[in-house]
Amino acid sequence: MRYISTRGGLAPAAFSDILLMGLAPDSGLALPEAYPQIDRGTLDAWRGLSYPELAFEVIRLFADDIPEADLKDIVNRTYTAAAFGSADITPVKRLKDGLAILELSNGPTLAFKDMAMQLLGNLFEYVLEKRGETLNILGATSGDTGSAAEYAMRGKHGINVFMLSPSGKMSAFQRAQMYSLQDANIHNIAIAGLFDDCQDIVKAVSNDHDFKATHKIGTVNSINWARVVAQVVYYFKGYFNATASNDEKVSFCVPSGNFGNVCAGHIARQMGLPIERLIVATNENDVLDEFFRTGVYRPRSSAETHITSSPSMDISKASNFERFVFDLVGRDGDAVRALWAKVDSGEGFDLSAKLDEVCGRFGFVSGQSSHADRIATIRQVDAEDGVVVDTHTADGIKVARELRRAGETVVCLETALPAKFADTIVEALGKQPPRPAGFEGLEALPQRVVELPADAARVKALIVSELGE
Ligand SMILES: *Cc1c(COP(=O)(O)O)cnc(C)c1O
Repeated sequence: MRYISTRGGLAPAAFSDILLMGLAPDSGLALPEAYPQIDRGTLDAWRGLSYPELAFEVIRLFADDIPEADLKDIVNRTYTAAAFGSADITPVKRLKDGLAILELSNGPTLAFKDMAMQLLGNLFEYVLEKRGETLNILGATSGDTGSAAEYAMRGKHGINVFMLSPSGKMSAFQRAQMYSLQDANIHNIAIAGLFDDCQDIVKAVSNDHDFKATHKIGTVNSINWARVVAQVVYYFKGYFNATASNDEKVSFCVPSGNFGNVCAGHIARQMGLPIERLIVATNENDVLDEFFRTGVYRPRSSAETHITSSPSMDISKASNFERFVFDLVGRDGDAVRALWAKVDSGEGFDLSAKLDEVCGRFGFVSGQSSHADRIATIRQVDAEDGVVVDTHTADGIKVARELRRAGETVVCLETALPAKFADTIVEALGKQPPRPAGFEGLEALPQRVVELPADAARVKALIVSELGE
């Protein structure tokens, strides 16, 4: 399989070559030249597979330049009961009204990002070792991404992580998760400022091409193609777990921010998985809901971005959305380049002429949820089912209940556990969320973090001194 860019400017490349790449040289995103097609016989053969067996079958279609024995070993080391809480890896539970919840948050940091990031850690280590290279990952986080990256990369050979987080702005649980890591290759840096300041520093450092090359700086953000591929697997697994036979269809409802998660659903559907509809759920930051209702994509400025109680969906531009638009415009890189020139100028674009295709051929539909909606949903699910869901998953359940048709099987993706967002759970239920075993006393562990002003030069100096370069 060869990979091209959504903007047409990448000479076809292999999986291992795009694995460590952020944006393509033309600023587009990598995608396969064509999606592999899964026929009915293959789907029947896959139904009975365990999670790691299924992951191997799916991922090898996309990572065909990694020898099969090596890939099998990587996948088996990644998707273990020890890391994900049970041999099922992604169990499905049913609510009383028939809605299915696909549990994706039983990994080390209690959010679905572990599903992809844990694989990425092992893939990075493997490819770097083969090439005799090292990588220093620089990232900015407001919570979930940073901890998932750190738990995936801790102790990995040839990899360091420098993670910027806004000082004092994350929950006590999120801070403790990251700052309590004592691994020598994990470097937490708390910046006196907001998440945007952290992101600006990452951009400033990445734009210093000499520094970037000399110190081998890379990223692990949500546009990384291997993360999307890893997520395709659980759409297949969720489909098998929620149905009795491959004659059935299901719809997936996905709490969305950067469109990485639901982009994997789109790809699974294009591969031939019997998905009826892909339901995109947003919070008050409704840039995606607006697109799927009107065909108009109007990215917001950071000043227009709401800070909400489902903070991992507080985005103003959906970075992975470009991959879907590439398919929507008939895989025309020139058209995508022209559309994103408009996005970059702050104007956005209007594809309302294609809205029928978006909803028909591609099966998308959307809805949004507010703070009041998620509080009401958390209460309702707790009262009716005795299940405490997190704020993001609640947004999905709210939208799924609103849009579900008679007889439709809807699988809601659980994107985090409620323990990560205790304040809002207490607001909704008047009690603390359940805390999984092993997380007792997390906040009391010794923490390791360097405080710095919002100054890219100071961050660079710290990187250089920590690397001893
Ligand atoms: C990252 C995240 C999301 C959004 O996922 P995207 O892939 O960016 O659409 C939703 N919920 C939680 C808890 C997350 O961590």
